[in-house]
Amino acid sequence: MAKVVVVGGGAAGLVAAWRAASLGHGVTLLEANGRLGVKLRISGGGKCNITHDGPPKLLLEAFSRPQARFLKPALLAFDNEAVLTLLHREGVETYARDNGRVFPLDRPGSATAVVAAFETLARGVGVDLRTGVRVTGLLGQAPHLGGLVLDGTRISGDVFILATGGASYPETGTRGEVLGWLKSLGVPTRPWCPALAPIPLLRPRPAWEGVSLRAGELRLHAGVEGRRLTAFAGDLVFTKTGISGPSALEVSQAAEQARRDGAAWLVYAAVMEPPETVDASLQGEQQTNPRLLVATWLQRHLPERLVEPLLQDIGLERSLMLKDLPKAARKALVALVTALPLGEPHPVPLARGEVAAGGVDLRAVDPKTMALRGWDNLRVCGELLDIDGPVGGYNLQAAFSTGYAAGSI
Ligand SMILES: Cc1cc2nc3c(=O)[nH]c(=O)nc-3n(C[C@H](O)[C@H](O)[C@H](O)COP(=O)(O)OP(=O)(O)OC[C@H]3O[C@@H](n4cnc5c(N)ncnc54)[C@H](O)[C@@H]3O)c2cc1C
Repeated sequence: MAKVVVVGGGAAGLVAAWRAASLGHGVTLLEANGRLGVKLRISGGGKCNITHDGPPKLLLEAFSRPQARFLKPALLAFDNEAVLTLLHREGVETYARDNGRVFPLDRPGSATAVVAAFETLARGVGVDLRTGVRVTGLLGQAPHLGGLVLDGTRISGDVFILATGGASYPETGTRGEVLGWLKSLGVPTRPWCPALAPIPLLRPRPAWEGVSLRAGELRLHAGVEGRRLTAFAGDLVFTKTGISGPSALEVSQAAEQARRDGAAWLVYAAVMEPPETVDASLQGEQQTNPRLLVATWLQRHLPERLVEPLLQDIGLERSLMLKDLPKAARKALVALVTALPLGEPHPVPLARGEVAAGGVDLRAVDPKTMALRGWDNLRVCGELLDIDGPVGGYNLQAAFSTGYAAGSI
């Protein structure tokens, strides 16, 4: 039986350690924080969206095609049902929301219960869990990792599993440094990039902080007149410095990429019909309801708090009636509801993303075992891999599945 060393006591590392020890290996897990699963504890706002409901095929469709292709064997070997079966066995009851997101039953500290369950499982099969231990370097070179550097000492092993997570929320222990070490050892990597993060705007509207736009679509264009690059249907909330909410998080990675490419422009379509259709209906309303206030019409589509400032933006009086609306102003009004300009994004902060995109290049990893190609004793799993799913439990599931594969030694 092998001596296995797992680095990182998050979702992927805990599962990898438990799995390897259940197969009879002697397993040591090293975690930099004083306690395990710090990011898991804050996931889902402390409620922990453990996974997503549905058949593996549907879960895979949430990821980009190369990521889905890579994840398939690991997910099929340890899918959402398998994760939930384990948790249920440990007394964590779960439920799926209408949108497919699976959570522990609403109780205070429900995310903590998930960590406790994995900790119990790992201890139950004899994993030596060591917290407060930060690995500071890797010893060796391809094809063999000789050991790990800890503060002032070193640790050897037969197989090493790196489960050190991404590079966002560094206060949770994930500083992303292991990716740099792997890169310097010749492992193909993609640089960390923010994902699922709030988007700061070049010209934020702090007065609108807390206002939500609902049931529309956030669209990213390559510049004001540029083509549409991506869009995400969902709510958006204004913050002091920009925008947040589901649609902003989902578009953040592409927005940052477009910004780096030199042309990014964000708009929110509160009404998703084409402008011509909305314009035709507004013209119809001018005939049937000529005394309706322009402000009242706008308020049907956008929150009240935005009406006054937006009318000011396009130079219209609040008391203006539809019958007195000139053509150019009508077009401007239609544009507000079909493509409310949010403007250019500022750099999206890596630290505030729910995940970090980038990581170990998937082509360098065997998708069945998470073994690094060209190495005989080194495996990687979890967010350290170049995998980033959408919000909805997909990222934790990817960490659990790849952790299980890495621990299947
Ligand atoms: C605010 C927030 C909310 C989220 N909510 C959800 C959600 O509800 N559902 C979902 O699916 N995903 C969610 N995610 C994403 C999800 O938490 C991560 O994708 C997942 O935790 C990744 O698991 P991991 O094991 O790879 O990394 P982590 O869970 O981050 O664990 C990595 C561990 O490695 C340790 N480590 C790092 N470097 C070293 C080192 N050198 N030496 C020793 N230890 C080290 C770290 O301290 C850390 O504990 C959320 C993320 C954030 C930030």
